[in-house]
Amino acid sequence: MKVKKLSKELIYRIRAGEVIEDPSSVVKELIENSLDAGAKRIHIYLEDGGKRLIEVKDDGEGMDEEDLTLSVLPFTSSKIEKVEDLKKITTYGFRGEALFAISKVSRLLIKSSNNESFIGNEIYLEGGERIHLRPCYHPKGTTVTVKEIFYSVPARRKFLKSSSQELKKIVELVTKYALSNPEVEFFLKNERDIILDLKPSSSFKDRLAEIFGNDYLKELYEIEENKKNYSFTLFISKPEFLKESPVKIFFVNKRPFYDNSFIRAFNTIYSDKLRYPDVFLFLFLNPEEVDFNVHPQKLQVKFSSKLSFPHKIVEAVRRKLKDKVLDKNKVELITNIRGIIKQNELPRQLEFGEMAKEEIKSNLPVYEDIWQLENTYIIVKFEKGLLVIDQHNAHEKIIYEKILSKRKFKTNFIAFPIFLKLSPPEFSAYREVKDVFKDLGFEIRELKDGEIQIEGIPEFIKKFTKENFIELINEIKKERKIEPLNVYKEIACKSAIKMGDVLKKEEMTNILIELFSLEDPFFCPHGRPVMVQITKDELDKKFGR
Ligand code: ADP
Ligand code: MG
Repeated sequence: MKVKKLSKELIYRIRAGEVIEDPSSVVKELIENSLDAGAKRIHIYLEDGGKRLIEVKDDGEGMDEEDLTLSVLPFTSSKIEKVEDLKKITTYGFRGEALFAISKVSRLLIKSSNNESFIGNEIYLEGGERIHLRPCYHPKGTTVTVKEIFYSVPARRKFLKSSSQELKKIVELVTKYALSNPEVEFFLKNERDIILDLKPSSSFKDRLAEIFGNDYLKELYEIEENKKNYSFTLFISKPEFLKESPVKIFFVNKRPFYDNSFIRAFNTIYSDKLRYPDVFLFLFLNPEEVDFNVHPQKLQVKFSSKLSFPHKIVEAVRRKLKDKVLDKNKVELITNIRGIIKQNELPRQLEFGEMAKEEIKSNLPVYEDIWQLENTYIIVKFEKGLLVIDQHNAHEKIIYEKILSKRKFKTNFIAFPIFLKLSPPEFSAYREVKDVFKDLGFEIRELKDGEIQIEGIPEFIKKFTKENFIELINEIKKERKIEPLNVYKEIACKSAIKMGDVLKKEEMTNILIELFSLEDPFFCPHGRPVMVQITKDELDKKFGR
């Protein structure tokens, strides 16, 4: 075999394949160009998940005829000139290959104007071949239309996913750029729907709320750090909102990047080994400290080693979290209640759910200063005042943590199995979670046509009825994607004592003991508060003392 020099054309094709891999990589390049052109509004229109058409319109600085002609040539860029420039990139683009690569694999129309006269120019190419260049009407800014991606490379077109999958990738991508550029208006629609309609916001926080909603924002802490050679704004899930499959989105100088070592580092921030926080990191540093030129699509970056990332960042976050999570009041309360438990020599004696049994032994330890209010709340007297505990949320939390810590329990067989007939949607929900049930210790037999028989239940559940099971299945049915953690939450919820259940002092004492043996007793698995304190100081204030 003879080593031959590859033809220019072939080299271009290979490079194009690296930059442009699917519709979302086209959208990425076009959004980056619009942002580099100083756009304040970016509107994106898609057909067929971007496979038939992608149009990105901006109000940036635009191009004149000469720039327009140059923009689609290989390795032409207005952004850098010298090798040294590569060391301090302040724009998204710098390789000058995106428009050229896109033109090679699609039908590309670019309309642009750099003035307020509404007169501009358009250039049209097919498979990289220039078809026309002529004046057109266009407001200041640029509109790029990419039709039939890979029409000229059928082999690649075959690798495209379904329209809905391609659309999903694009929505995720646009969301990222919208997050790191909150001052820019983003509008995304396809043939059917308006998918994103984001008005300019003044901060990352406002943009997060705009995209994910205010309720979600309440699940996050915001942390800021300003150091001499870097700064960041970071959002991280509060400890009561950890997830099995969390979201991690990182930006450096507004550019999204992917880095496994960052993901791993943030996953160790809380001591939970099974659930992890969502993290949004907006990192800023001197462009000379980071190399953006290490990946064909610039999805990964390389930080100068003297920054010691991610370690430095995670340490800073850990320090700041300590103040937030372990708010002084909570620590004091835990110490206080644990003190009471110890002083009164109150060892835990009941098994979970045993309180529901009729024949409760009479010689159980009991804390006298505990009462039940309206068969709903447990009132506890402690050093600083009163503690009001929601009996259902508390028990739910206790069971949930118990499930999480073991995930496998002995099965208690029931003398009279529970027989159930499930509707088709209920039955299909059941089929999806039956392995999770089985792993926990449920013993369920499938009969026929959606008929099932529950023959055994895990030992931690003492009271479980037909109604509980139906409710449980219906809760699970509502979920789009079934995750074991959510199933555990529902099981904990359905097998916990309810509002309206009458509790004896022994039972309430036991809940108190169980609850305060947990690391964080303050929130139930659904994120609702488990208790409220009313201190003597607060009462004094109310009475004007
Ligand atoms: P790069 O972004 O790496 O410079 P591109 O191929 O993406 O390379 O774009 C080539 C050039 O075309 C850019 O440097 C810029 O001058 C011009 N250009 C591309 N898109 C736009 C746009 N939306 N508005 C203004 N100029 C643009
Ligand atoms: Mg570019």
